[in-house]
Amino acid sequence: MNKTVLLIEDNEQNRYLTTFLLERHGYTVISARDGMSGIQLANSSVPDIILLDIQLPTMDGYEVAQALRQCGQLSQVPIVAVTSYAMVGDREKTLTAGCNGYIEKPINPDTFISEIEQFLPDQRAANEVS
Ligand code: MN
Repeated sequence: MNKTVLLIEDNEQNRYLTTFLLERHGYTVISARDGMSGIQLANSSVPDIILLDIQLPTMDGYEVAQALRQCGQLSQVPIVAVTSYAMVGDREKTLTAGCNGYIEKPINPDTFISEIEQFLPDQRAANEVS
């Protein structure tokens, strides 16, 4: 069964590129443009992984990660921040907020999928077998 990725990203070009890359690798992608709808979608669909932009309108990614971590059914879902914030302190902040890790923007199309799959242990094992 295809893994489902929830993408919370307000920038249309980033959403388009990320969705394209993921779908090409067999993932099902659902997306939201802001934190509130992202949280609702996470709860209704319980995705396999959440990719979270940090610079979002209204609620920033840190607040979104904290809110997601308070949803019991999402406690085991990896959250990966996708952020252009380059400072070490900002990255630490994503981890403190509840993210499992981060990927730097702009995303590199050649390495993006393998970066994400580091946060999906089942997927990595499946790829090694095939
Ligand atoms: Mn953004």
